[in-house]
Amino acid sequence: MHRHLARLITVLVALAALVVSPLTSPSSSASSARAADQWNPPAHLVQPLNEVWNHVSSTYPDLHGFRNYGWDQVMANRGSINYCVRWESDAPVDAALRDRIHAALKKQFGKWSAAMVDNGTGHNAWPYTNVPVDIVGWAVKNRSTLRWTDNSVDVYAGNLDSGGAPQCAPDCGRFFHQDGDYSRCPGGAARHYDQSLWLTEGFQGGAGGDWGQRVGREYFTGALSQEDIHIYLHEVGHTFGLDDFYDWTPTGQCCFLMKAGSAARITEFDLWMFRDFWRHLKSRYGL
Ligand SMILES: [Zn+2]
Repeated sequence: MHRHLARLITVLVALAALVVSPLTSPSSSASSARAADQWNPPAHLVQPLNEVWNHVSSTYPDLHGFRNYGWDQVMANRGSINYCVRWESDAPVDAALRDRIHAALKKQFGKWSAAMVDNGTGHNAWPYTNVPVDIVGWAVKNRSTLRWTDNSVDVYAGNLDSGGAPQCAPDCGRFFHQDGDYSRCPGGAARHYDQSLWLTEGFQGGAGGDWGQRVGREYFTGALSQEDIHIYLHEVGHTFGLDDFYDWTPTGQCCFLMKAGSAARITEFDLWMFRDFWRHLKSRYGL
């Protein structure tokens, strides 16, 4: 109760400062500096969060040099994410199933976006209270698998990676063009994709990284109506830099999404790990 009240007062003071001071005034700078230092996890999470960051700092080979976390992608797009769906399956997809997959993807990704919003404000100088997701393309081995005729998404048929899996054009992919140059993408930057939702027939478990997320085709289509598509959510955590917890557990924490198999939704601890990653990354954007 006290914590929430204190936070509300802080927000009101910050809002008041923004209202009364012109953007260029020194007091405005002071106000944004205060907002930038905002770090207020629940007391019982302070120690385990520090343990997680220390672990990440000592085990990631290029923690601060890597420039393609989900955070970097959202920042590069000024607040949005584009997806390609890699349909590695011969199961037919009609327009209705396509649209259900789009809706589920937007809803699930939105759960992580929402984790960065506190009282209607981006947490710790995060600039976006909402991160729209657009699905710009579908990749499939044979065009006939896709049973729609409208042009709402770009379709890439028969463009296979070295392992034989369908992919959207690399010329349009952020993974292949981290400098943001999509001049060779037929649809230009507007139709580029940052991440792939890679759905593979018979695939068990999941994989995630800056390139996107991979889960079983049957799993994802079977989970479309679930409140939390938790394997996908876990893999998005990796896209934004979060680690696995196969061989250790932070103090006082038993069950959370990034500890695979222990939770089926984004928990309070996951939310604060997510925020903490941004807190340690944001200086690269002068925030
Ligand atoms: Zn994992």
